[in-house]
Amino acid sequence: MKKVYCIGELLIDFVAERQGSDLSKANVFTKKAGGAPANVACAISKLGGNGVFIGCVGDDPFGKFLLETLKKEGVDISLAQLSDTFTTLAFVSLSEDGERDFVFSRGADRELKYNPNLRKNLSGNILHLGAATALLGGPLEKTYTKYLFDGLTKEMFISFDPNFRIDLWKEDQETFIKKCMPFVEKSHLCKFSLEEAQLISGKEDLHEACDLLHKAGTKIITVTLGKDGTLLSMNGTKKVIPSVKVAPVDTTGAGDSFIGCLLYQISDLGNFEPIFEDFPLVEKMVAMANKAGAITTTNYGAIVALPTKEDLEK
Ligand code: ATP
Repeated sequence: MKKVYCIGELLIDFVAERQGSDLSKANVFTKKAGGAPANVACAISKLGGNGVFIGCVGDDPFGKFLLETLKKEGVDISLAQLSDTFTTLAFVSLSEDGERDFVFSRGADRELKYNPNLRKNLSGNILHLGAATALLGGPLEKTYTKYLFDGLTKEMFISFDPNFRIDLWKEDQETFIKKCMPFVEKSHLCKFSLEEAQLISGKEDLHEACDLLHKAGTKIITVTLGKDGTLLSMNGTKKVIPSVKVAPVDTTGAGDSFIGCLLYQISDLGNFEPIFEDFPLVEKMVAMANKAGAITTTNYGAIVALPTKEDLEK
């Protein structure tokens, strides 16, 4: 079983308990572990794989809580870093009209430093770059780029999820697109939402969007479509693989669960070659990942709702 190195942010989401009010009126918040790459590492380890998290938290009680949460899920946190800067915090509430009210206090996640000693361990493993905050600048962005090149020179299987958050890029979506492109060019697998595929390619039509993103460099594209399934595009073939019918209560983390399950299955293969040629094989893996995504929507929270291998087999 290969290791899956997941690089990016780990942060606290303070979620307002009473929905329907904006943050100025919210009094009670629930503390939750957040951060897409960290969720992906948890998804992989919970399924029995080797999820490794590389990111930075503050040397404070919140940082301690976050690392303990990952450890409990079986994630290898030995490469996580502690900073004197406070742990990154996000405050979220849903206002009466269903709009998200969001305040982001960026701290330690941006401080992640490149670890050159890691290079020798990377060969033949998987690298997952989940970019929600990474492209916002700071040492993390530079570290990200260095690991991308390490991944290429060490023949890793590279996966990229842009994790676009409108709250973080409201003013400057062009910069987001520009910063994503080198990762789309160099990654073997890209996971997009419909919005991300359209935004980054500049194409409304999903097939045209995929063609353009393939042209940029990425060989395998998955576009997650919520209850409508996942579009898989590779080797000149495109197919929507249907989702599993469930009664969702909270869709937080479904995308992370999906990509985590897909990478878990790839990590279980002896070598990566078949992934690039065998459409039916990847289709089967996507169908399994759809199942993981669907299960995650049937419970509240991101990490708690991730399935185990037994849940998937049921
Ligand atoms: P995120 O915002 O967490 O990054 P995303 O937009 O990338 O999520 P989604 O499309 O919401 O991802 O969900 C990922 C996968 O989970 C889907 O492709 C689908 O297989 C499954 N899924 C999500 N929502 C549902 C649903 N309501 N019913 C069944 N399956 C779902």
